[in-house]
Amino acid sequence: MRIATRHGRSVLISPDSTSLVDVGEASRGRFGPAPRSVYDAWAEFVEWAGHASIDFAADGIPLILEELGAPSPDPRQVFAIGLNYRDHADESGLDYPTSPPTFTKFAGSFAGPVGELVLPAATVDWEAELVVVVGRRAERVTAAGAWSYVAGLTVGQDYSERALQLAGPAPQFSLGKSFPGFAPQGPWLVTLDEIADPDDLSIECRVNGEVMQSSSTKQLIFSVPQLVERLSAVLPLMPGDVVFTGTPAGIGGARKPARFLREGDVVETTISGIGDLRQLCVDATRRENDR
Ligand code: ZN
Repeated sequence: MRIATRHGRSVLISPDSTSLVDVGEASRGRFGPAPRSVYDAWAEFVEWAGHASIDFAADGIPLILEELGAPSPDPRQVFAIGLNYRDHADESGLDYPTSPPTFTKFAGSFAGPVGELVLPAATVDWEAELVVVVGRRAERVTAAGAWSYVAGLTVGQDYSERALQLAGPAPQFSLGKSFPGFAPQGPWLVTLDEIADPDDLSIECRVNGEVMQSSSTKQLIFSVPQLVERLSAVLPLMPGDVVFTGTPAGIGGARKPARFLREGDVVETTISGIGDLRQLCVDATRRENDR
């Protein structure tokens, strides 16, 4: 099953990805329309969706990617993990962490899968990431059973303004990664039954068609189940919570010379078996000067 958000309402995506149906209408008000309420009743929703006879041909409306928002657009909590791919730690010249370095991306930075990325500075970088949405409350769970707490997976970008992120004396990871539009996600959430091996997904980021990042979630230092164990050891994870799981090698800041995003750049992010994101970069400063 694939679930998405359109104009703030939960929708189901047709198998051929051409149309969608509104969850609130299809379930006659039993679920939704707000995405958070669907995650809050996730087990019941999955049970219903598995048996509901949804006629996309008769009831579906055309799927337009620009109309979609993040699959879980207003989570109670957003976790993001730094330095979680072996190849990225290697390019950064840093030791592998012994516990997951964790920060947040504020929900004000959330966006849908396709649109513009307004560049607030000349040092904005890309970070392709696998994003997890939590399907039920997880408190002190072990990695062995942790996948059962996951509603599904989606594609994310952890756009990062490096100058603010790394400014001293204390780095500002959460702020530097939370400008508006810095957390696009989607195009939809894919449930685990549709993913052959969630621990081995290819992940890629292209800028103007040039491959910048190409890796696999096999490279994760802390796998998704291990992240659920580590995070839920500290505080409960709630339905609809979002976890950005870290980025592989190939970020612009680690290149020689460094390469950051410029006006007109098109950033595409792909995870096998899930889908693609696409942002067109727009320069905020130039826009204001033109007025
Ligand atoms: Zn990141």
